[in-house]
Amino acid sequence: MTKYLFAPPAVASVPVRGSDEHFPIRRIFCVGRNYEAHAREMGLVADRDAPFYFTKSPAHSVSSGATVPYPPGTANYHHEMELVVGIGKAGFRIPEAQSLSHVFGYACGLDMTRRDLQKQAREKQLPWDLSKDFENAAVLSGMAPASVIGHPNKGKIELKVNGVTRQSSDIGTMIHAAPAIIAHLSRFYHLQPGDLIFTGTPEGVGPVVVGDRLDGMIEGVGEIALHIGAADSP
Ligand code: MN
Repeated sequence: MTKYLFAPPAVASVPVRGSDEHFPIRRIFCVGRNYEAHAREMGLVADRDAPFYFTKSPAHSVSSGATVPYPPGTANYHHEMELVVGIGKAGFRIPEAQSLSHVFGYACGLDMTRRDLQKQAREKQLPWDLSKDFENAAVLSGMAPASVIGHPNKGKIELKVNGVTRQSSDIGTMIHAAPAIIAHLSRFYHLQPGDLIFTGTPEGVGPVVVGDRLDGMIEGVGEIALHIGAADSP
């Protein structure tokens, strides 16, 4: 048995709804600009030809219901409410028509973003890691198995901050739907059980501040909540 110098990190996971089992997280892929109106509000144009991706570390995931500290290094911390796909079966170069057979289930996710750092990165043509892949930046609800809920391809997606609706759209309006994303992503990666795909956010993204309470829902999938706590003291 390998003797580790210090305790290896715990496996990041999300609970499976209606079960005592957890879905262990292997990788977190995120699609950018997958709703036309969100691309527009960012001052950009969505690419209809192919999705693009960034990643988040599983170590940066946090469960729905958590209170997270306002993150360091930003003055413009944003919410992005998203449908998350959980891969349950390995595949490479998966044909679109077969792609849903690789899905274990679906969750609600919040792709939390340091928007000011993302804007700087865009302008300087630098990577997005500081703006997207930071502590507690991948918020996840429990996962609903496709065997129970099916494969939702339309339905309301909403996010409220302190009870006020900020994001309200329909997952049926995403540009690249789950089957197309899985087919495309699996041309570049050998998808594995435990891989998660955040499928992009609709319009209405905006800042949150200390003390805010976020409540999101996706029709037929579930709900998600997050509380913003005080920043760590300097
Ligand atoms: Mn996003």
